[in-house]
Amino acid sequence: MSKTSALRVVGDDAATTAIPNDLQAFWMPFTANRSFKARPRMVARAKDLYYYTPEGKQIIDGTAGLWCSSAGHSRQPIVEAIQKQAAELDFAPTFQFGHPKAFELASRIAALAPGDLDHVFFCNSGSEAADTALKMAIAYWHARGKASKTRLIGRERGYHGVGFGGITVGGIVANRRVYGSMLAGADHLPHTYNREKQAFSKGEPEWGAHLADELERIVALHDASTIAAVMVEPMAGSTGVLPPPVGYLKRLRELCDKHDILLIFDEVITGFGRLGAPFASERYGVIPDLMTFAKGVTNAAAPMGGVVARKHVHDAFMTGPDHVIELFHGYTYSAHPLACAAGLATLDLYRDEGLFERSKALEPVWADAIFSKLKGQAGVLDIRQLGLTAAIDIESWKDAPGKRAYVAMDKAFHDEGIMIRTSGDCLVVTPPFIITENDIAQIADKLSNVIASTAMPS
Ligand code: PLP
Repeated sequence: MSKTSALRVVGDDAATTAIPNDLQAFWMPFTANRSFKARPRMVARAKDLYYYTPEGKQIIDGTAGLWCSSAGHSRQPIVEAIQKQAAELDFAPTFQFGHPKAFELASRIAALAPGDLDHVFFCNSGSEAADTALKMAIAYWHARGKASKTRLIGRERGYHGVGFGGITVGGIVANRRVYGSMLAGADHLPHTYNREKQAFSKGEPEWGAHLADELERIVALHDASTIAAVMVEPMAGSTGVLPPPVGYLKRLRELCDKHDILLIFDEVITGFGRLGAPFASERYGVIPDLMTFAKGVTNAAAPMGGVVARKHVHDAFMTGPDHVIELFHGYTYSAHPLACAAGLATLDLYRDEGLFERSKALEPVWADAIFSKLKGQAGVLDIRQLGLTAAIDIESWKDAPGKRAYVAMDKAFHDEGIMIRTSGDCLVVTPPFIITENDIAQIADKLSNVIASTAMPS
Protein backbone atom coordinates (compact mmCIF):
# COMPACT_ATOMS: atom_id res chain seq x y z
CA MET A 1 0.00 0.00 0.00
CA SER A 2 1.29 3.45 -0.86
CA LYS A 3 1.97 5.68 2.13
CA THR A 4 0.29 8.65 0.46
CA SER A 5 -2.73 9.35 -1.68
CA ALA A 6 -2.44 11.19 -4.95
CA LEU A 7 -3.08 14.91 -4.56
CA ARG A 8 -6.59 15.19 -5.98
CA VAL A 9 -9.06 17.86 -5.04
CA VAL A 10 -12.67 17.92 -6.15
CA GLY A 11 -15.78 20.01 -5.77
CA ASP A 12 -16.54 23.73 -5.90
CA ASP A 13 -13.92 24.63 -3.33
CA ALA A 14 -11.23 22.57 -5.03
CA ALA A 15 -9.02 25.58 -5.64
CA THR A 16 -8.64 26.26 -1.94
CA THR A 17 -8.84 22.74 -0.52
CA ALA A 18 -6.09 22.25 2.06
CA ILE A 19 -3.22 19.88 1.36
CA PRO A 20 -4.29 16.55 2.93
CA ASN A 21 -2.47 15.27 6.00
CA ASP A 22 -0.71 12.46 4.18
CA LEU A 23 0.77 14.89 1.62
CA GLN A 24 2.36 17.38 3.98
CA ALA A 25 5.95 16.11 3.59
CA PHE A 26 7.05 18.85 1.18
CA TRP A 27 8.84 21.52 3.24
CA MET A 28 8.40 24.41 0.84
CA PRO A 29 11.26 26.86 0.20
CA PHE A 30 10.81 30.58 0.99
CA THR A 31 7.14 29.91 1.79
CA ALA A 32 4.83 30.39 4.75
CA ASN A 33 4.22 26.63 4.80
CA ARG A 34 1.25 26.60 7.20
CA SER A 35 -0.68 29.31 5.36
CA PHE A 36 0.04 27.72 2.02
CA LYS A 37 -0.95 24.21 3.06
CA ALA A 38 -4.21 25.52 4.51
CA ARG A 39 -5.05 27.47 1.33
CA PRO A 40 -2.78 26.31 -1.50
CA ARG A 41 -1.96 28.13 -4.70
CA MET A 42 -1.28 25.14 -6.92
CA VAL A 43 -0.44 25.00 -10.60
CA ALA A 44 -0.31 21.80 -12.58
CA ARG A 45 0.39 22.89 -16.15
CA ALA A 46 1.79 25.87 -18.04
CA LYS A 47 1.80 27.08 -21.61
CA ASP A 48 3.15 30.39 -22.95
CA LEU A 49 1.88 33.25 -20.73
CA TYR A 50 -0.34 31.07 -18.57
CA TYR A 51 -0.31 28.65 -15.69
CA TYR A 52 -3.28 26.34 -15.12
CA THR A 53 -4.45 25.15 -11.71
CA PRO A 54 -5.14 21.42 -11.18
CA GLU A 55 -8.82 22.30 -11.79
CA GLY A 56 -7.91 23.96 -15.10
CA LYS A 57 -8.31 27.61 -14.13
CA GLN A 58 -6.09 29.92 -16.16
CA ILE A 59 -3.59 32.10 -14.27
CA ILE A 60 -1.58 34.86 -15.96
CA ASP A 61 2.09 34.39 -15.16
CA GLY A 62 2.89 37.89 -13.94
CA THR A 63 6.28 36.81 -12.61
CA ALA A 64 7.78 34.78 -15.47
CA GLY A 65 7.89 31.93 -12.96
CA LEU A 66 10.55 33.36 -10.66
CA TRP A 67 11.95 35.97 -13.08
CA CYS A 68 13.10 33.10 -15.24
CA SER A 69 10.57 31.84 -17.82
CA SER A 70 11.12 34.88 -20.03
CA ALA A 71 10.02 33.28 -23.31
CA GLY A 72 6.86 31.84 -21.75
CA HIS A 73 6.24 28.28 -20.66
CA SER A 74 6.74 24.84 -22.17
CA ARG A 75 8.05 26.26 -25.42
CA GLN A 76 8.19 23.49 -28.00
CA PRO A 77 11.76 23.95 -29.30
CA ILE A 78 13.12 23.80 -25.74
CA VAL A 79 10.95 20.80 -24.84
CA GLU A 80 12.17 18.95 -27.93
CA ALA A 81 15.82 19.84 -27.32
CA ILE A 82 15.64 18.43 -23.79
CA GLN A 83 13.85 15.27 -24.93
CA LYS A 84 16.38 14.67 -27.68
CA GLN A 85 19.33 15.29 -25.38
CA ALA A 86 17.97 12.93 -22.71
CA ALA A 87 17.84 10.14 -25.29
CA GLU A 88 21.25 10.94 -26.81
CA LEU A 89 23.53 11.81 -23.87
CA ASP A 90 21.78 12.04 -20.53
CA PHE A 91 24.87 12.88 -18.53
CA ALA A 92 28.58 13.33 -18.93
CA PRO A 93 31.05 14.58 -16.34
CA THR A 94 32.77 17.85 -17.11
CA PHE A 95 35.56 17.19 -14.62
CA GLN A 96 38.39 15.93 -16.84
CA PHE A 97 35.97 15.09 -19.72
CA GLY A 98 33.69 17.11 -21.96
CA HIS A 99 30.71 17.09 -24.30
CA PRO A 100 30.13 19.30 -27.33
CA LYS A 101 27.08 21.24 -26.13
CA ALA A 102 28.97 22.59 -23.09
CA PHE A 103 31.53 24.20 -25.38
CA GLU A 104 28.85 25.47 -27.79
CA LEU A 105 26.74 27.04 -25.07
CA ALA A 106 29.73 28.67 -23.36
CA SER A 107 30.75 30.24 -26.66
CA ARG A 108 27.22 31.45 -27.37
CA ILE A 109 26.98 33.09 -23.94
CA ALA A 110 30.43 34.64 -24.30
CA ALA A 111 29.40 36.04 -27.68
CA LEU A 112 26.29 37.63 -26.12
CA ALA A 113 28.21 39.11 -23.18
CA PRO A 114 29.69 42.57 -23.70
CA GLY A 115 33.39 43.46 -23.94
CA ASP A 116 35.93 40.78 -23.19
CA LEU A 117 33.69 38.80 -20.84
CA ASP A 118 34.68 35.70 -22.73
CA HIS A 119 35.01 32.60 -20.52
CA VAL A 120 32.05 30.80 -18.98
CA PHE A 121 32.07 28.58 -15.89
CA PHE A 122 28.86 26.58 -15.40
CA CYS A 123 26.98 25.66 -12.24
CA ASN A 124 23.33 24.92 -11.47
CA SER A 125 21.72 27.96 -9.88
CA GLY A 126 22.08 31.62 -9.08
CA SER A 127 23.25 30.85 -5.57
CA GLU A 128 26.02 28.62 -6.85
CA ALA A 129 26.91 31.28 -9.41
CA ALA A 130 27.25 33.93 -6.69
CA ASP A 131 29.45 31.75 -4.50
CA THR A 132 31.49 30.68 -7.53
CA ALA A 133 32.13 34.31 -8.51
CA LEU A 134 33.23 35.20 -4.97
CA LYS A 135 35.58 32.21 -4.80
CA MET A 136 36.96 33.06 -8.25
CA ALA A 137 37.69 36.62 -7.13
CA ILE A 138 39.67 35.43 -4.11
CA ALA A 139 41.46 32.75 -6.15
CA TYR A 140 42.28 35.37 -8.83
CA TRP A 141 44.24 37.52 -6.40
CA HIS A 142 45.89 34.42 -4.99
CA ALA A 143 46.96 33.46 -8.51
CA ARG A 144 48.36 36.94 -9.00
CA GLY A 145 50.43 36.72 -5.82
CA LYS A 146 48.19 39.09 -3.83
CA ALA A 147 46.76 36.58 -1.37
CA SER A 148 45.91 39.27 1.21
CA LYS A 149 43.06 40.49 -1.03
CA THR A 150 40.22 38.40 0.40
CA ARG A 151 37.70 40.93 1.76
CA LEU A 152 34.32 40.93 -0.04
CA ILE A 153 32.12 44.00 -0.38
CA GLY A 154 28.40 43.72 -1.04
CA ARG A 155 25.49 46.10 -0.62
CA GLU A 156 22.60 46.51 1.78
CA ARG A 157 19.43 45.04 0.31
CA GLY A 158 21.48 42.92 -2.08
CA TYR A 159 20.33 39.36 -2.83
CA HIS A 160 22.83 36.83 -4.09
CA GLY A 161 21.09 33.58 -3.28
CA VAL A 162 21.33 31.38 -0.24
CA GLY A 163 24.87 30.01 -0.07
CA PHE A 164 27.09 31.28 2.73
CA GLY A 165 29.00 33.53 0.31
CA GLY A 166 25.82 34.99 -1.13
CA ILE A 167 24.13 35.68 2.18
CA THR A 168 27.31 37.22 3.60
CA VAL A 169 27.72 39.65 0.74
CA GLY A 170 23.98 40.10 0.39
CA GLY A 171 22.24 42.62 2.58
CA ILE A 172 19.04 40.95 3.74
CA VAL A 173 18.38 41.47 7.41
CA ALA A 174 16.50 38.17 7.88
CA ASN A 175 19.68 36.28 6.95
CA ARG A 176 21.71 38.22 9.50
CA ARG A 177 19.11 37.62 12.21
CA VAL A 178 18.93 33.89 11.60
CA TYR A 179 22.33 32.80 10.32
CA GLY A 180 24.45 35.10 12.47
CA SER A 181 28.02 35.96 11.63
CA MET A 182 28.34 34.06 8.32
CA LEU A 183 31.73 34.51 6.54
CA ALA A 184 34.28 36.81 8.12
CA GLY A 185 35.66 39.81 6.24
CA ALA A 186 32.69 41.37 4.48
CA ASP A 187 31.46 44.94 4.28
CA HIS A 188 28.49 46.60 2.67
CA LEU A 189 27.84 49.66 0.59
CA PRO A 190 24.60 51.46 1.41
CA HIS A 191 21.58 50.53 -0.67
CA THR A 192 20.48 53.09 -3.21
CA TYR A 193 16.83 53.60 -2.31
CA ASN A 194 15.52 56.82 -0.80
CA ARG A 195 11.76 57.28 -1.10
CA GLU A 196 11.85 60.97 -0.32
CA LYS A 197 14.26 61.66 -3.17
CA GLN A 198 13.20 58.99 -5.65
CA ALA A 199 9.49 58.25 -5.27
CA PHE A 200 7.67 57.42 -8.49
CA SER A 201 10.75 57.78 -10.73
CA LYS A 202 10.27 55.81 -13.92
CA GLY A 203 13.43 53.87 -14.72
CA GLU A 204 16.68 55.01 -13.12
CA PRO A 205 16.32 57.66 -10.39
CA GLU A 206 18.37 60.84 -10.81
CA TRP A 207 19.41 60.89 -7.16
CA GLY A 208 21.93 58.52 -5.61
CA ALA A 209 25.08 58.08 -7.80
CA HIS A 210 27.19 59.51 -4.96
CA LEU A 211 26.35 56.47 -2.81
CA ALA A 212 28.98 54.53 -4.78
CA ASP A 213 31.59 56.80 -3.16
CA GLU A 214 31.01 54.91 0.09
CA LEU A 215 33.52 52.46 -1.34
CA GLU A 216 36.20 55.09 -0.61
CA ARG A 217 35.26 54.95 3.08
CA ILE A 218 35.59 51.14 3.13
CA VAL A 219 38.93 51.33 1.32
CA ALA A 220 40.16 53.97 3.78
CA LEU A 221 39.22 51.70 6.67
CA HIS A 222 40.54 48.37 5.41
CA ASP A 223 43.00 49.28 2.65
CA ALA A 224 42.60 48.06 -0.92
CA SER A 225 45.35 45.49 -0.33
CA THR A 226 42.81 43.45 1.69
CA ILE A 227 39.83 43.79 -0.68
CA ALA A 228 39.13 41.22 -3.40
CA ALA A 229 35.84 42.30 -4.93
CA VAL A 230 32.68 44.34 -4.85
CA MET A 231 29.53 42.43 -5.81
CA VAL A 232 26.22 44.11 -6.64
CA GLU A 233 23.14 43.42 -8.68
CA PRO A 234 22.97 46.11 -11.38
CA MET A 235 19.31 46.40 -10.35
CA ALA A 236 18.48 44.90 -6.95
CA GLY A 237 15.55 42.65 -7.81
CA SER A 238 14.46 40.41 -4.97
CA THR A 239 14.40 43.19 -2.38
CA GLY A 240 11.85 45.15 -4.34
CA VAL A 241 13.23 46.38 -7.69
CA LEU A 242 15.77 49.11 -6.90
CA PRO A 243 17.00 50.53 -10.22
CA PRO A 244 20.53 51.94 -10.15
CA PRO A 245 20.69 55.72 -9.84
CA VAL A 246 21.90 57.43 -13.02
CA GLY A 247 25.73 57.18 -13.12
CA TYR A 248 26.01 54.89 -10.06
CA LEU A 249 27.36 51.79 -11.80
CA LYS A 250 29.93 53.81 -13.80
CA ARG A 251 31.14 55.41 -10.59
CA LEU A 252 31.51 51.99 -8.96
CA ARG A 253 33.53 50.77 -11.94
CA GLU A 254 35.85 53.79 -11.75
CA LEU A 255 36.45 53.29 -8.03
CA CYS A 256 37.15 49.56 -8.46
CA ASP A 257 39.66 50.41 -11.21
CA LYS A 258 41.26 53.08 -9.07
CA HIS A 259 41.79 50.68 -6.16
CA ASP A 260 42.48 47.48 -8.10
CA ILE A 261 39.34 45.72 -6.85
CA LEU A 262 37.34 43.29 -8.99
CA LEU A 263 33.78 44.32 -9.83
CA ILE A 264 31.20 41.51 -9.94
CA PHE A 265 27.72 42.06 -11.36
CA ASP A 266 25.12 39.53 -10.26
CA GLU A 267 23.01 39.35 -13.41
CA VAL A 268 20.91 36.36 -12.34
CA ILE A 269 17.76 38.46 -12.80
CA THR A 270 18.96 41.19 -15.15
CA GLY A 271 20.66 38.82 -17.62
CA PHE A 272 19.03 37.53 -20.80
CA GLY A 273 16.85 40.45 -21.72
CA ARG A 274 14.96 41.46 -18.58
CA LEU A 275 16.20 45.05 -18.99
CA GLY A 276 15.90 45.08 -22.79
CA ALA A 277 19.52 44.12 -23.50
CA PRO A 278 21.28 40.75 -23.27
CA PHE A 279 22.80 41.93 -19.97
CA ALA A 280 22.43 45.02 -17.78
CA SER A 281 26.14 45.63 -18.19
CA GLU A 282 25.43 46.37 -21.85
CA ARG A 283 22.49 48.65 -21.06
CA TYR A 284 24.71 50.69 -18.73
CA GLY A 285 27.95 50.46 -20.70
CA VAL A 286 29.78 49.15 -17.64
CA ILE A 287 31.76 45.92 -17.95
CA PRO A 288 32.30 44.01 -14.70
CA ASP A 289 35.26 41.66 -14.25
CA LEU A 290 32.95 38.76 -13.38
CA MET A 291 29.27 38.40 -14.18
CA THR A 292 26.87 35.80 -12.83
CA PHE A 293 23.85 34.44 -14.68
CA ALA A 294 21.16 31.75 -14.17
CA LYS A 295 17.34 31.73 -14.62
CA GLY A 296 16.76 33.00 -18.19
CA VAL A 297 19.70 31.10 -19.65
CA THR A 298 17.51 28.00 -20.06
CA ASN A 299 14.17 29.82 -19.83
CA ALA A 300 14.02 27.86 -16.54
CA ALA A 301 13.29 24.59 -18.32
CA ALA A 302 16.39 23.06 -16.70
CA PRO A 303 18.45 24.30 -13.74
CA MET A 304 21.59 26.17 -14.76
CA GLY A 305 23.74 29.06 -13.60
CA GLY A 306 27.20 30.32 -14.34
CA VAL A 307 29.86 32.97 -14.19
CA VAL A 308 31.35 34.83 -17.15
CA ALA A 309 34.91 36.04 -16.62
CA ARG A 310 36.84 38.71 -18.44
CA LYS A 311 39.93 37.66 -20.30
CA HIS A 312 42.35 39.11 -17.76
CA VAL A 313 40.66 37.17 -14.94
CA HIS A 314 40.63 33.89 -16.84
CA ASP A 315 44.18 34.31 -18.11
CA ALA A 316 45.56 34.93 -14.63
CA PHE A 317 44.71 31.30 -13.82
CA MET A 318 46.27 29.84 -16.97
CA THR A 319 49.79 29.67 -15.64
CA GLY A 320 51.70 26.86 -13.97
CA PRO A 321 52.15 23.31 -15.28
CA ASP A 322 49.49 22.49 -17.87
CA HIS A 323 48.43 19.16 -16.32
CA VAL A 324 47.40 20.88 -13.07
CA ILE A 325 43.82 22.00 -12.33
CA GLU A 326 43.79 25.80 -12.51
CA LEU A 327 40.66 26.50 -10.44
CA PHE A 328 39.83 24.07 -7.68
CA HIS A 329 36.08 24.34 -8.00
CA GLY A 330 33.15 22.69 -9.80
CA TYR A 331 29.85 20.81 -9.44
CA THR A 332 28.93 17.31 -10.57
CA TYR A 333 26.23 18.87 -12.71
CA SER A 334 28.29 21.80 -14.10
CA ALA A 335 27.26 22.03 -17.77
CA HIS A 336 24.73 19.19 -17.44
CA PRO A 337 23.87 18.04 -20.98
CA LEU A 338 20.10 18.58 -20.50
CA ALA A 339 20.69 22.13 -19.27
CA CYS A 340 23.10 22.83 -22.13
CA ALA A 341 20.57 21.58 -24.68
CA ALA A 342 17.87 23.71 -23.06
CA GLY A 343 20.23 26.71 -23.02
CA LEU A 344 21.10 26.42 -26.72
CA ALA A 345 17.42 26.07 -27.69
CA THR A 346 16.55 29.03 -25.44
CA LEU A 347 19.18 31.30 -26.98
CA ASP A 348 17.90 30.33 -30.45
CA LEU A 349 14.37 31.21 -29.37
CA TYR A 350 15.40 34.58 -27.93
CA ARG A 351 17.19 35.35 -31.22
CA ASP A 352 14.58 33.99 -33.63
CA GLU A 353 11.66 35.70 -31.90
CA GLY A 354 13.61 38.91 -31.17
CA LEU A 355 12.62 38.66 -27.52
CA PHE A 356 15.28 40.97 -26.08
CA GLU A 357 14.25 43.62 -28.61
CA ARG A 358 10.61 42.98 -27.69
CA SER A 359 11.43 43.44 -24.02
CA LYS A 360 13.08 46.76 -24.87
CA ALA A 361 10.23 47.93 -27.07
CA LEU A 362 7.62 47.07 -24.43
CA GLU A 363 9.39 48.88 -21.59
CA PRO A 364 7.69 52.28 -22.15
CA VAL A 365 4.30 50.62 -22.69
CA TRP A 366 4.73 48.65 -19.49
CA ALA A 367 5.90 51.67 -17.49
CA ASP A 368 3.06 53.87 -18.77
CA ALA A 369 0.41 51.23 -18.01
CA ILE A 370 1.63 50.61 -14.46
CA PHE A 371 2.14 54.27 -13.60
CA SER A 372 -1.05 55.57 -15.18
CA LYS A 373 -3.19 52.91 -13.52
CA LEU A 374 -1.63 52.81 -10.04
CA LYS A 375 0.04 56.14 -9.29
CA GLY A 376 -2.37 58.10 -7.13
CA GLN A 377 -4.40 55.04 -6.09
CA ALA A 378 -5.13 55.03 -2.34
CA GLY A 379 -2.50 53.08 -0.42
CA VAL A 380 0.16 53.18 -3.15
CA LEU A 381 3.32 54.66 -1.61
CA ASP A 382 5.77 54.25 -4.46
CA ILE A 383 6.23 52.56 -7.82
CA ARG A 384 9.62 51.50 -9.16
CA GLN A 385 10.12 50.17 -12.65
CA LEU A 386 12.98 49.15 -14.90
CA GLY A 387 12.84 47.06 -18.06
CA LEU A 388 9.96 44.60 -17.77
CA THR A 389 9.83 44.79 -13.98
CA ALA A 390 7.74 46.79 -11.56
CA ALA A 391 7.40 47.01 -7.78
CA ILE A 392 4.54 48.71 -6.01
CA ASP A 393 5.00 49.64 -2.35
CA ILE A 394 1.66 49.56 -0.55
CA GLU A 395 0.71 50.94 2.83
CA SER A 396 0.88 48.09 5.32
CA TRP A 397 -1.85 47.05 7.69
CA LYS A 398 -1.21 48.44 11.15
CA ASP A 399 0.98 46.16 13.30
CA ALA A 400 1.13 43.45 10.61
CA PRO A 401 4.11 44.15 8.32
CA GLY A 402 3.95 42.17 5.08
CA LYS A 403 0.47 40.79 5.74
CA ARG A 404 -1.38 43.01 3.33
CA ALA A 405 0.97 42.09 0.51
CA TYR A 406 0.62 38.41 1.37
CA VAL A 407 -3.17 38.65 1.23
CA ALA A 408 -2.93 40.67 -2.00
CA MET A 409 -0.75 37.98 -3.57
CA ASP A 410 -3.21 35.28 -2.47
CA LYS A 411 -6.21 37.22 -3.78
CA ALA A 412 -4.37 37.95 -7.01
CA PHE A 413 -4.04 34.22 -7.58
CA HIS A 414 -7.47 33.04 -6.46
CA ASP A 415 -9.67 36.02 -7.36
CA GLU A 416 -7.88 37.80 -10.20
CA GLY A 417 -6.14 34.83 -11.82
CA ILE A 418 -2.64 36.27 -11.81
CA MET A 419 0.62 35.21 -10.20
CA ILE A 420 2.48 38.09 -8.55
CA ARG A 421 5.24 38.15 -5.92
CA THR A 422 5.76 40.04 -2.71
CA SER A 423 8.75 41.43 -0.87
CA GLY A 424 7.70 42.94 2.45
CA ASP A 425 4.81 45.29 1.72
CA CYS A 426 5.69 45.47 -1.93
CA LEU A 427 4.04 43.77 -4.90
CA VAL A 428 6.39 42.72 -7.68
CA VAL A 429 5.52 41.94 -11.29
CA THR A 430 7.98 40.75 -13.94
CA PRO A 431 6.11 39.24 -16.90
CA PRO A 432 7.49 37.06 -19.71
CA PHE A 433 8.65 38.99 -22.77
CA ILE A 434 5.96 37.39 -24.97
CA ILE A 435 3.35 39.56 -23.25
CA THR A 436 1.14 41.78 -25.43
CA GLU A 437 -0.06 45.35 -24.87
CA ASN A 438 -3.50 43.97 -23.99
CA ASP A 439 -2.01 41.62 -21.41
CA ILE A 440 -0.13 44.54 -19.90
CA ALA A 441 -3.35 46.56 -19.53
CA GLN A 442 -5.00 43.53 -17.92
CA ILE A 443 -2.15 43.11 -15.44
CA ALA A 444 -2.35 46.77 -14.42
CA ASP A 445 -6.13 46.39 -13.85
CA LYS A 446 -5.69 43.27 -11.78
CA LEU A 447 -3.02 44.90 -9.62
CA SER A 448 -5.28 47.85 -9.04
CA ASN A 449 -8.11 45.50 -8.01
CA VAL A 450 -6.04 43.61 -5.44
CA ILE A 451 -4.70 46.83 -3.97
CA ALA A 452 -8.26 48.16 -3.66
CA SER A 453 -9.60 44.91 -2.23
CA THR A 454 -6.95 44.79 0.50
CA ALA A 455 -7.44 48.40 1.58
CA MET A 456 -8.68 47.37 5.04
CA PRO A 457 -7.89 44.27 7.12
CA SER A 458 -10.51 41.62 6.53
N1 PLP B 1 21.30 36.29 -7.40
C1 PLP B 1 20.25 37.05 -7.69
C2 PLP B 1 20.46 38.46 -8.12
C3 PLP B 1 18.95 36.53 -7.61
O1 PLP B 1 17.89 37.31 -7.86
C4 PLP B 1 18.79 35.18 -7.23
C5 PLP B 1 17.43 34.60 -7.16
O2 PLP B 1 16.44 35.24 -7.30
C6 PLP B 1 19.92 34.44 -6.93
C7 PLP B 1 21.16 35.00 -7.03
C8 PLP B 1 19.78 33.01 -6.48
O3 PLP B 1 19.39 32.21 -7.51
P1 PLP B 1 18.88 30.71 -7.21
O4 PLP B 1 17.58 30.83 -6.52
O5 PLP B 1 18.82 30.11 -8.59
O6 PLP B 1 19.91 30.06 -6.36
